[in-house]
Amino acid sequence: MSEVIYRKYRPKTFKEVVGQKPIKVTLQSEIASGNIAHAYLFVGPRGTGKTTLARLFARSLNCLKRKDKESEPCNDCEICNLISSGRSMDFIEVDAASHTGVDNIRENIIANAQVPPFNNKGYKVFIIDEVHMLSKSAFNALLKTLEEPPKSVIFILATTEIHKVPETIISRCQRFDLKKIPQVDMIKRLSEIIEWEKITVPDYLLAEISRRSEGCLRDAESLLGQIISLGTDKVTDELASLVLPSSNWGEIDILVESLRHNNLSTALNQLNKLVSEGIDLQNFTVNLIDYLRQIMLYQTIGPSFNLDFSEDLVVSIKKHAAEFPLSDLSRLLNILLEKLSIKDSLIDQLPLELACVEFLLNKETKSGIQETKPTQSDASPEQSKTATDNSSEAIKKLEKNWSNIINDSKPLNHSLSSILLTGHPLSVDNESIMIGLEYAFHIEQLDKPQVKSNLTEIFEKYLDKKLNINFQIDANYKENHEVFKGKNDKEVTDVLDTFGGEIV
Ligand SMILES: [Zn+2]
Repeated sequence: MSEVIYRKYRPKTFKEVVGQKPIKVTLQSEIASGNIAHAYLFVGPRGTGKTTLARLFARSLNCLKRKDKESEPCNDCEICNLISSGRSMDFIEVDAASHTGVDNIRENIIANAQVPPFNNKGYKVFIIDEVHMLSKSAFNALLKTLEEPPKSVIFILATTEIHKVPETIISRCQRFDLKKIPQVDMIKRLSEIIEWEKITVPDYLLAEISRRSEGCLRDAESLLGQIISLGTDKVTDELASLVLPSSNWGEIDILVESLRHNNLSTALNQLNKLVSEGIDLQNFTVNLIDYLRQIMLYQTIGPSFNLDFSEDLVVSIKKHAAEFPLSDLSRLLNILLEKLSIKDSLIDQLPLELACVEFLLNKETKSGIQETKPTQSDASPEQSKTATDNSSEAIKKLEKNWSNIINDSKPLNHSLSSILLTGHPLSVDNESIMIGLEYAFHIEQLDKPQVKSNLTEIFEKYLDKKLNINFQIDANYKENHEVFKGKNDKEVTDVLDTFGGEIV
């Protein structure tokens, strides 16, 4: 059944081919203009469309009904049908993996290439799949033919291992490098298939299938085919687990959790346990990077970022996103990409995303609280600096009196003072005070007019002037609050004691 799905939905036009846009565009323009090379070389991982494109190319070139300057085959004429069903004399597919020797190449290809195409207006097309498997003498024989190609003959060589193909052969061909199919394209394709098959599969399962397939569309279609063959029109988690091999997300979550808590021994133990259980390390690494990226994006984009995972994993990712500092996340991702030199992680945009995150993190650190206090405001670094210089005196006053301010606010509202306990002053200028907090719902409570007016009075008592009080989420909350607490250790401990150690 799985193979059936793959064949059933094999693309019949260039438009239907998933991914590989630059290659499609080039091939189509060559067909439309009639500017055809004698030899092509399709390089790329398995299941990315090499033979699919080669077949389409051959069909379109020979199609009897294709109009001038067009490039899609009609899929209806005699030739299109003959090629589709593998009965055309002008379309020869050779699997070099099982025909490695020079005799095979001489008989099947070189001798046959001397015979003109059956369709005298068309081309005779040879597809040599896994061409790197040919013996040295077979390559030499092929090279001679490529050097003096017979008229109206086209060779399409396909390989997953270009380093095993002699340079002399490569230089005779027009080369195309096919890429792994991006997850988003794959999910789109799988969604189309389930629609045609009239079954329902949850989105996160489609995402899981595409992740498992690591850019190989054929594998993804096979897995989906196995799920379809379960014979139900509504696929549940339980049913899908019969087909999808057990996932390693739980193991990845444990590793991420231990790294988040700086627990090196748990992290290393976990890795060694997995290796001794025979885990596929490469797949594990790709998934780990994907998982960390999802955490980073959820943290920065928020709930509008769609998490394509099962419910329990979504809960875990949200928890990590709330607690894993952004700077640590981006550093970890960078280290992984660098140490493991993963060039083709299927997430093309990840290096760019990391660059954006790092740029902003650096900016925040430079104008950050550790040295100069204020952070994150829209003011330019110059403005912030001036404001900071003027306000350093006032900030010191605030820091010194923070526990008094908390104590004074206690009679007003118990939870108000406990929220203030989690805050710290970020900046003070001639008109206003900025308080940094960790959570938006804390800001909502403090931002109420009555609360603000009470707080203004309390702050006035310690600053000797009336200032506007503003609140914002501090992007470097953890770091900054640690520094602040360090300066006020004793006072904060005293206040905590009076709360019975509780922080809301
Ligand atoms: Zn046709």
